[in-house]
Amino acid sequence: MPELPEVECLARAVREEIRNSQFTGVLFLRPDLREPMPFDAIRSALIGATPLGVRRRSKYLLIETNLGTVILHLGMSGQLLFLDSPDPVKPHTHVIFKLVAGKRFFYLHFIDPRRFGRLTAVPAGTDLSAHPWLKDLGPEPLEATAESLGKHLWQKSRNRKIAIKPFIMDGKVLVGAGNIYASESLYLAGIRPGRAAGRVSRGEYGVLAEAIQKVLAAAIEAGGTSFRDYLHSDGSEGSYALQLNVYGRLGEACRKCLSPVQETRHLNRATYFCGTCQK
Ligand SMILES: [Zn+2]
Repeated sequence: MPELPEVECLARAVREEIRNSQFTGVLFLRPDLREPMPFDAIRSALIGATPLGVRRRSKYLLIETNLGTVILHLGMSGQLLFLDSPDPVKPHTHVIFKLVAGKRFFYLHFIDPRRFGRLTAVPAGTDLSAHPWLKDLGPEPLEATAESLGKHLWQKSRNRKIAIKPFIMDGKVLVGAGNIYASESLYLAGIRPGRAAGRVSRGEYGVLAEAIQKVLAAAIEAGGTSFRDYLHSDGSEGSYALQLNVYGRLGEACRKCLSPVQETRHLNRATYFCGTCQK
């Protein structure tokens, strides 16, 4: 499943690709993904419009034009591929955006085998922060200082008995701390993933906020170099070549103290940690 760093790299790549181009059409090959796609709204936001930019909010890609904003989520298995073909070339191609730059026509294919993806659009001037898909999302970890992010987490966690790991993975609390990144951040911060969120101190949340930012920034940087290939070639998934300290390393030596890395589960997601370095 694409995580925040992958979607950030995707947003940057799509922004670059569609710069100085125009959407000339949208071909829908089925009526729905996770929910029905509003064909007219999507076409109205794109066709003949001037693209203004591509942004990310949580794991949503926002393609903004002077006429509106297209909101796209890759779901569990979605891919975006820029291809020269105006016709589907891969199974499970559901939407094909047609573009022109000068005299060159090219096509953005939205492929999604499991169809958990989402696609909609809103007209220009709409308050995106009030959109049903976006309104409950917590803050962006990379758009705040570590200080203010730590304060936010500390405030949100008071009297919460939920373990710290699922707490930071809750998108209403904070976006972007997916399963791998949550384990890795807690390791860097020296906090045990099973501790009650309400028992983590203000100072520890400051350290954790910094760790989350560091881990996500490193993943974005790692992805930035490989992403253009990902986008242009076969679309094969590859998690970024991050140096993982604990995730997936059950029984291997902790890189700091050499104790074996342990595994547990929180809300049915695998969690890895060092019982010596994390308190
Ligand atoms: Zn250790």
